[in-house]
Amino acid sequence: MIIILKENANKNDYDSLLGMLSEKGVKVSGINGVNHNILGLVGDTSKLDIELINAQPVVERVQRVQEPYKACNRQFHPEDTIVDVCGRKIGGEHIQIIAGPCSVENEDQIIETAEAVKKSGATMLRGGAFKPRTSPYAFQGLHGEGIRLLLAAKKATGLPIVTEIMAAEHLDLFADVDIIQVGARNMQNFELLKQLGRSNKPILLKRGLANTMEEFLMSAEYIMAGGNNNVMLCERGIRTFETYTRNTLDIAAVPLLHQRSHLPIVVDPSHATGLTSLVEPLSLASIVAGANALIIEVHNNPAKALSDGAQSLTPKQFDDVMNKLKPQIEFSGKILG
Ligand code: PEP
Ligand code: MN
Repeated sequence: MIIILKENANKNDYDSLLGMLSEKGVKVSGINGVNHNILGLVGDTSKLDIELINAQPVVERVQRVQEPYKACNRQFHPEDTIVDVCGRKIGGEHIQIIAGPCSVENEDQIIETAEAVKKSGATMLRGGAFKPRTSPYAFQGLHGEGIRLLLAAKKATGLPIVTEIMAAEHLDLFADVDIIQVGARNMQNFELLKQLGRSNKPILLKRGLANTMEEFLMSAEYIMAGGNNNVMLCERGIRTFETYTRNTLDIAAVPLLHQRSHLPIVVDPSHATGLTSLVEPLSLASIVAGANALIIEVHNNPAKALSDGAQSLTPKQFDDVMNKLKPQIEFSGKILG
């Protein structure tokens, strides 16, 4: 970290800054320039409060040399992390296609959808049991019963299951869930992230609606700081000024996150646009950009869906998408499953 000092810095203010830094255990060395004096900090600067340093009267500005995230940083872990989910690998050359309804609604719906997506080549099943809805009057999910139905669908198809957690106190209900999803709205629910850091479950962390990549990586860091390294980053579209789509898929996030982090990257083309017609092109683009997995909403009867029907594919539409994806995955030198 580098601190650029103001011209004509007051000696007392300067001494108090030095005192503050030495209390934090970092080594400080000074460089005297023509117009500015600069302090270089060496040591563990991750615990320093940049805003507080910036607010000191002698400080012009502070510049980080290293990113504030360590555990998820590719610099300290050059190899790709491969997350193992019931023997299926996410990361490296393996591609997983996670498919299923937005919400688990009843036994017939989840089993029928699970069987259909499996037949088309999906390798994991998604389905929400706890639903983060904008309206408190909208369907909130079947909670524990939804997880029970997902486990029944897993038993019927053998597909590992992915479902969203909304509160740390529900963690016990997720004991048999294969991947726990942290939804966009909870990306910065730091107490929840800390709890998940203490478990060893694979976590699919979605990017928040309006969060930067650095904030996203810092949330992954929260989980990893607790000792859980089984984290996957999911780009699911961000809020922009665009109104033709529900969100804007930040496709650049895929290669960029791969550069910054060793964690596997998942793309959700369903929430990214809210439009079924865009799921296929964005799925293909995501594979080309380097996604390690896709999570796609599919419903056995989207017109009757209790949530996100408008963006959910029918089993036939999903089958068509898979028929386009399979050769693309092969062409990219990757393996489905
Ligand atoms: C979902 O997966 O159904 C969901 C609510 O996703 P997100 O958190 O990305 O909005
Ligand atoms: Mn949804």
